[in-house]
Amino acid sequence: MASPVILPGSTLGVLGGGQLGRMFAMAAREMGYHIRALDPDPKCAARFSVEELIVARFDDIHATSWLASQSHVVTLEIEQIAGECLERAAQIVPVRPGPAAMQIIRDRIEQKTFLAKHVPVGPFHVVRSEQEMAAALTHVGPRCFVKIASGGYDGRGQIETNAASTASSIWEQIGGPCVVEKALPIEAELSVLVARAPSGEVQVYPPARNHHEARILTWSVLPAPIEPRLEQRAREIAREIATALGIEGLLCVELFLVAGDLLVNELAPRPHNSYHASVLGCVTSQFEQHVRAVCNLPLGQTDMMRPAAIYNLLGDIWEPAAPAFDRALALPGVRVHLYGKAVARPGRKMGHLSATAPSANEAVERVQQAYALLTGASGGT
Ligand code: ADP
Ligand code: MG
Repeated sequence: MASPVILPGSTLGVLGGGQLGRMFAMAAREMGYHIRALDPDPKCAARFSVEELIVARFDDIHATSWLASQSHVVTLEIEQIAGECLERAAQIVPVRPGPAAMQIIRDRIEQKTFLAKHVPVGPFHVVRSEQEMAAALTHVGPRCFVKIASGGYDGRGQIETNAASTASSIWEQIGGPCVVEKALPIEAELSVLVARAPSGEVQVYPPARNHHEARILTWSVLPAPIEPRLEQRAREIAREIATALGIEGLLCVELFLVAGDLLVNELAPRPHNSYHASVLGCVTSQFEQHVRAVCNLPLGQTDMMRPAAIYNLLGDIWEPAAPAFDRALALPGVRVHLYGKAVARPGRKMGHLSATAPSANEAVERVQQAYALLTGASGGT
């Protein structure tokens, strides 16, 4: 039976109240939906943009069931929701993305194994013991990325090894089942966002070009200035994975360009930091698309209106005092988006700068310039 459309006026439940939940809620409220969120932190970023915040852990079955019973559909903005919670909620209302897709994505070992069956990935080994760690290092070489199976994000739960690292020290440090990947000579990092509705409709965004520092996204631009062959290939990969997973909602595919070809790094079943520029640059923002996809509405067009870039603002630059936002805002076309987080910590994503420009490269230059002004790195007054 075809899934019914969930019309404006209905209530959307969102698991997770971080910045992605906050921006999802803002888009949903603009379209006339009501929003309830669940997050363990009463001061989470989404607290002011939702009508009700349920303060509970992501493994609280009772609280998740209650959220489901008070919503017409449940979605999520974070991977680390316990499988039993999603399953219980799915007995009450549609959960999008559903428990089956989330089970594959949540665990890096399952995700990587799934990806390797469908699309090109870099060399990797699944490791569950010190002996397997030693075997993996002999296969992939001493320079690798060791990634914990569950719970890692923004480079956390990861170790970059070198010739001095030993199997026992890495195993001790990582502390559990993990994936050992060969360190790749990456020419560029890209991502591609795809939306899939329960109706089966699929829409793919133009790929984004992403720049990471210390394994955290620094800036990102849409569209990625890449040759049409790669753009086409990125779109095909995204469509293939979304269809194979039967995802309902959004799926962001992170890609590495290595030796002129694309390898899939990892998946995120939700809005993604690298598509914040879609808010200014695309006909339909990723957050509106998320709403449309989980409500089984017709998906929005993904075309670019104008190239756009974002630059992440991490908690580090709140030391010793809040950044000089007025300086950045003096630049034409530059916007500041802050997530309303109560405490700034090093490495914590507090907000981003964004700008549009006639070309992708100019958009990047604009946000870089704004960032330099904001942090005083330019030496300006
Ligand atoms: P996270 O879940 O923290 O985003 P990722 O697997 O995406 O974890 O890794 C974060 C970043 O670390 C990547 O965007 C990339 O810059 C770098 N990285 C990860 N894996 C590799 C690899 N195999 N080779 C080289 N760089 C990598
Ligand atoms: Mg990543």
